[in-house]
Amino acid sequence: MTSQLEQSVIVIGAGIIGVSLADALVKRGQTVELLDFDEPASGTSAVSYGWINSHRKHPLAYHRLNVEGLRRWQEIAQDDPQSVTFAGHVEFADDEEHRQTLTERVERLISLGYPAAWIDSTEAEELTGLQVPASAIAAVFEAEGHAFPVTRTRTLLDGLVKNERFSMHKCRATSVRETSDGVTVVTGQGNINGRVAVVAAGNGSEHLVESAGGRLPLVPAVVNGSAYGYLARVEAPGHPVQGLVTTDRLNLRPENDERLLVQALDLDSSADQHQEPGKTVVEEFSARVSKLFPDLETQVVDIRVGHRVIPADGLPAVGRIRPNSAIFAAVAHSGIVLSPLLAEILSEEILGGEPNSLLKLFQPSRFLDNAQRESVAAPRRPGEQ
Ligand SMILES: Cc1cc2nc3c(=O)[nH]c(=O)nc-3n(C[C@H](O)[C@H](O)[C@H](O)COP(=O)(O)OP(=O)(O)OC[C@H]3O[C@@H](n4cnc5c(N)ncnc54)[C@H](O)[C@@H]3O)c2cc1C
Repeated sequence: MTSQLEQSVIVIGAGIIGVSLADALVKRGQTVELLDFDEPASGTSAVSYGWINSHRKHPLAYHRLNVEGLRRWQEIAQDDPQSVTFAGHVEFADDEEHRQTLTERVERLISLGYPAAWIDSTEAEELTGLQVPASAIAAVFEAEGHAFPVTRTRTLLDGLVKNERFSMHKCRATSVRETSDGVTVVTGQGNINGRVAVVAAGNGSEHLVESAGGRLPLVPAVVNGSAYGYLARVEAPGHPVQGLVTTDRLNLRPENDERLLVQALDLDSSADQHQEPGKTVVEEFSARVSKLFPDLETQVVDIRVGHRVIPADGLPAVGRIRPNSAIFAAVAHSGIVLSPLLAEILSEEILGGEPNSLLKLFQPSRFLDNAQRESVAAPRRPGEQ
């Protein structure tokens, strides 16, 4: 198969990042071919907590990027309220280590002008509908929200498939290369030619960028590393939770009126994408949830293992894979927060604009120096991600 659409942009990967980018490009008049070997939004975007925040993002440039991402989602909430809810976030801490990390985070965020404020335990109870120990310290992050990444991706795709400038191919890209007048993506079903290619293939991106002569190392997919994390779905009919809540032992937020999405990050050290969670993990999730909702009948429905998409230094890799290359990458942890913003600014660059200054620190070409990166700390404490 040789595409007729040789002026098109080929986007590899139909997760939230690839689909958001395809949508932004098509809206700007570009022809787009989107490739995925699997169903859209079935990769990491399907097993994500969807917390829209800029809570613990270092360095400052990464914080600013996430603040901009959060703003884009606030705009989306006006047009597509099914995909995101801004009901705020309350965090309360009673154990010593959590009190200390919460204090550090809140003080830093206040100093950055981010909406964070201390509240007392009674206010925390009113906002969450949960019992909050009188001895706990508590904070509210009123601008934060939670997104529904699968809903968002499907909503965008429903619009895209009606557009004649968009086409989707169900195939696996095996390599990408530059040609004299653009790019060729090699797939299991033949070659697809275009003007530009974007690797937005989540955890499949490292190999594709390498095939094009670039470098985009990701953190290793190993047990007790930073890549794997549990995400439990809990039946809790009549639960009072409207927004995000972080406690000493759990991160939780509503999936709907009957269900919660729950993380217990300290348990993630045993998460393995190739194994069902062990009995002790299931029991521990159940015990923690029951303790938090003593008056509700709660049941852990399932515990899935998500595979975070994390470049080796923990920061996004978004832009040309080498200076002047026609091949771009769009690969990031916090990909839910960042997807609308990255779609907007990367599409403008692809269509001939200058690289956005927000992306200066996050160029994929930084990895071409082959330097050894410090390993990325695994998120194991409450309020991390
Ligand atoms: C447990 C957990 C909690 C998280 N919580 C948050 C959070 O609260 N907030 C936040 O912002 N982020 C969070 N994240 C991160 C966020 O979910 C990801 O950054 C985001 O989903 C990445 O989206 P993506 O489109 O890059 O990748 P994906 O959703 O994985 O999409 C990539 C797509 O590429 C396809 N693909 C791969 N290789 C190929 C190939 N060779 N050819 C064709 N197609 C290919 C795949 O099939 C897949 O559909 C969390 C992640 C996890 C695991």
